[in-house]
Amino acid sequence: MKKERKPSAARPAAVGTAAENRKKKTHGKAKTIGVVLLVYLAFLLAAAAVLDGRHAVVTLNGPEEMRVEVGGEYIDPGASAVSDGRVFGRSKRPLALTADRTVDTSRPGETVLSYRASVLGRAVVAERRVIVQDTTPPVITLTESDALTSWFTGFEEPGYRAEDNVDGDLTEQVQRIELADRVVYTVADSSGNEATAERPIHYSVSTPVISLVGGSDVTVPADLFFEEPGYRAMDSLGNDLTEHVVVSGRVVPYQVGTYELRYTIENELGDAATARRRVNVVPAQVPEVVYPDRATIYLTFDDGPGPYTAALLDVLARYGVKATFFVTDQYHGDYADLIGRAYREGHSIGVHTYTHALDWSMYQSEEAFFDDFIAMEEIIREQTGSYTKLFRFPGGSSNTVSRFNQGIMTRLTEDMTAMGYVYFDWNVSSGDAGETTSTSKVVENVCAGVSGKSVSVVLQHDIKAFSVDAVEQIILWGKSHGYAFAALDETSYPAHHSVNN
Ligand code: ZN
Repeated sequence: MKKERKPSAARPAAVGTAAENRKKKTHGKAKTIGVVLLVYLAFLLAAAAVLDGRHAVVTLNGPEEMRVEVGGEYIDPGASAVSDGRVFGRSKRPLALTADRTVDTSRPGETVLSYRASVLGRAVVAERRVIVQDTTPPVITLTESDALTSWFTGFEEPGYRAEDNVDGDLTEQVQRIELADRVVYTVADSSGNEATAERPIHYSVSTPVISLVGGSDVTVPADLFFEEPGYRAMDSLGNDLTEHVVVSGRVVPYQVGTYELRYTIENELGDAATARRRVNVVPAQVPEVVYPDRATIYLTFDDGPGPYTAALLDVLARYGVKATFFVTDQYHGDYADLIGRAYREGHSIGVHTYTHALDWSMYQSEEAFFDDFIAMEEIIREQTGSYTKLFRFPGGSSNTVSRFNQGIMTRLTEDMTAMGYVYFDWNVSSGDAGETTSTSKVVENVCAGVSGKSVSVVLQHDIKAFSVDAVEQIILWGKSHGYAFAALDETSYPAHHSVNN
């Protein structure tokens, strides 16, 4: 059979034999049956699939709600997905998942994470709530302070700060309650976490005590200056409140008498503490005059230091002669250092006058005189390290130029003596103040004046060159005639003139 059905290649396919046509017919029938079967099978499969209800199942690992602290790290536990159906059951093969697992933990808040898987184009989503929470309270920092609570100041807030891990600086939001014995500070952050701090307050209820150095009754010798002996104010907490003490009352230090000083401390509430001190100004002790053993010449130079003073000091040094300078500030400090030099070279320094004002204005009042005097004393102290007790009145104690102020010389000589100052006039005049400008005449005047005196206080002016030029000859004459030369001190013969005003 098969041989017979051997096909001939030469014959066109369209033209068949009867057998061939029969065979063709049979083949077409089978094909139709196959298609029907396939459609039927597909129908069955579709029906099975519908019955199966195949779908994705997404399962979360870990809980549906998770909490993480702000600033912390969120680690997602993940999820898994498989397909499931009523008929064919759950598949073991995992399904692909898409998920966004990032959570911003820098701020408190909520994030919903979704995990998605799909089967046959149908998606299933599982969700997880992640709560970023802040459970850390703010931190209150109290400023440490040495400024103690005191009777004077009351309590002064030294300051504080509040800092939160999320909200930052919360200082402005701090609630401050001042109680009798403490201050309470509270603050809450935006998540409601509360912080509290406390600062104890130690109130002093007792008024301070003012203690007076030297006591409440002091006696001082008359002087140009009154130096406050000192005081201290302490409250019951041991706070030193001295700087808040106000001293009132006045001591006239050069006027013998009794004065009262009041030391008061008062706080803002008007509470006050007061201490009183009596100051008795008594006459200073005046040293007794001590006369030298030998006939002595006290050379004294007024009105300098000036342009010739250095040369004069050189001459004095050459002969080892000590003298006395009654100084001024006529050259406005230009030669002031010579005061220091003279002092260090063993000469005595006394006050003459700060200004040597031509109108004699230092005699307008006692205050005017003392002001001028004190100004010169200060320069002397700068130059020598100490004040001096020696001085010479401008014009001498016998001057009449001060008569525009009746009795001023009488009062000043008493005041100054009561203060322990020793004023010096002179008993030998060189004549250099006006009567001559000749060096030889100055030498002649001095030598004549000294002759026959056991103590000579010689008046010269070291701002006059011709007078300074006379000094070497005076020294040579004095030494060759057996005189000693010395500087004045508080016990020296003062050669007082009679007071004429
Ligand atoms: Zn003078």
